[in-house]
Amino acid sequence: MHTTRIAKDFRWEMGHRLPFHTGLCKNIHGHSYTLRVELEGTTDNNGMVMDFYDINAAVDPIVESLDHCFICDEDDSVMIEFFLTNPMKVTMVPFSTTAENICRWLCETIWQEMQAHERINSITCRLHETERAYAQYSVTR
Ligand SMILES: [Zn+2]
Repeated sequence: MHTTRIAKDFRWEMGHRLPFHTGLCKNIHGHSYTLRVELEGTTDNNGMVMDFYDINAAVDPIVESLDHCFICDEDDSVMIEFFLTNPMKVTMVPFSTTAENICRWLCETIWQEMQAHERINSITCRLHETERAYAQYSVTR
């Protein structure tokens, strides 16, 4: 079977910390995250796996919700207490905010939007935390 891969890149700024970490990552800091959303499938009569506009329509709202927020582990009592008295843009998540976990969460969230498109067989998301460090997660139909 022949398949085609298409991909689109997204970027945003976001703060986080890893409370369990014994090194620098326990500190409040941020990254310029980049996300590559790659879709693998078959092309339609127009030669498209999926319209790039439709990829934007699915991913842009997620990126906008995260841009310049602090992504906060629900178990991080230190940060939760801080945000109670200092309201800011926060996204609460039920996991430790490693690149691996954020990537998995984004990939599964985006897949929810994409899976109705029957020509798409799989989605792969690659989340760069820095230029040289990334996590990658895939969902196959
Ligand atoms: Zn970090």
